[in-house]
Amino acid sequence: MKNVVLLGSTGSIGTSTLKVVEDFPSELRLVGLAAGNNASLLAEQALRHRPALVSIQDPMKAGELAKGLSGIRVASGPEGLLELATLPEAHVVLIAIVGTAGLAPALAAIRAGKDIAVASKEILVMAGQIVMEEARRHGVRVLAVDSEHSAIFQCLDGKPAASVRNLWLTASGGPFRDATRWPKEALANVTVAQALKHPSWVMGRKITLDSATLFNKGLEMIEARWLFDIEMDRVQVVVHPQSVVHSMVEFIDGSILAQLSSPDMCLPIQYALTYPHRRPSQRVATDFARIGTLAFEEPDTGRFPALGLARRAGTLGGTLPAVLNAANEVAVERFCNGDIGFAEIPEAVARVMDAHTLVSQPSLKEILAADQWARQAAADLQLP
Ligand code: NDP
Repeated sequence: MKNVVLLGSTGSIGTSTLKVVEDFPSELRLVGLAAGNNASLLAEQALRHRPALVSIQDPMKAGELAKGLSGIRVASGPEGLLELATLPEAHVVLIAIVGTAGLAPALAAIRAGKDIAVASKEILVMAGQIVMEEARRHGVRVLAVDSEHSAIFQCLDGKPAASVRNLWLTASGGPFRDATRWPKEALANVTVAQALKHPSWVMGRKITLDSATLFNKGLEMIEARWLFDIEMDRVQVVVHPQSVVHSMVEFIDGSILAQLSSPDMCLPIQYALTYPHRRPSQRVATDFARIGTLAFEEPDTGRFPALGLARRAGTLGGTLPAVLNAANEVAVERFCNGDIGFAEIPEAVARVMDAHTLVSQPSLKEILAADQWARQAAADLQLP
């Protein structure tokens, strides 16, 4: 029996994780759950799974929650996340919190000797070097939940970075892939509703918007750099609209291994939770005759500057990836509030990156300070 703590249980990844756990009642057990604001769904999940501890972001909601959950301890806020991450009976902590709140629990879980399964890409983007070094020091695994990184993890299967020529992350291209329908000038007038229409995946709001700008792929490039200990110039992106090839590894002899399936996040979540075993599941069945065509194209870095910005941040490293991530988060929020246009999201990120004084080899404190600085800078930025 593997005991699982799930941070972000009420979100898109969180609810898919619950399905996976329910598929394997004799192998996986939820011992801890955390949510942001959705107290009613958290209560429902807790009653179904009876974990030892649940936590909710707002302390004011914890009291109300506790009334309906007798026999289950209820915590709240950042301390609640840390308590869950270090729960003595937990074997693996799956982190699926949107934003930066997952970083401290990730480090706490590693230091307590737990494997972590990472969906929240902010963790490795902000502090990839520190997280991976701590994981090596404590002898724990950092397992990929993101479908692209899970694909690479499955293709690499323990082979060293020295045997790799390139990692190929596939990108759906998002709702504005078609340059004829969406020329550069048209991107200025994109609405939030249009940006939220992802062609192949149903996901949380922030990641869906990041898929439309391609910042999601940019964050994944940096995530891959740390997760697989490989330089940025060996991390490539190719657009693949069908989202069937989840990513590929090109080895030094020119051979390429890819992982394919129809898109369903339950598959990478299951692999992360049952690793190193591959367990049977009927959730995903891929019908190639129906899919028909697998297409690949060069990403359009002119219309989507996010990829170039992410490559720059990942190559220079230090505090710059945290700055990119924070500035993007604020710019996306400003776009949602109607304060800036869609095309101004990458412009805002570029300007904040340009204004940043990079700290190389930063401590966690310096990373968090850069994150705060970038948030303020992105909020204060006058655009256009
Ligand atoms: P959602 O917005 O659907 O869910 C976010 C989750 O985080 C919710 O459960 C939310 O709680 C919770 N949460 C937010 N803030 C806090 C906090 N301070 N403390 C505790 N819980 C909190 O996002 P997704 O599931 O789509 O994405 C989660 C992460 O996984 C992101 O980093 C994303 O980039 C990554 N990811 C997502 C994929 C997907 O297919 N969705 C694929 C690969 C990676 P509540 O709802 O109760 O407020």
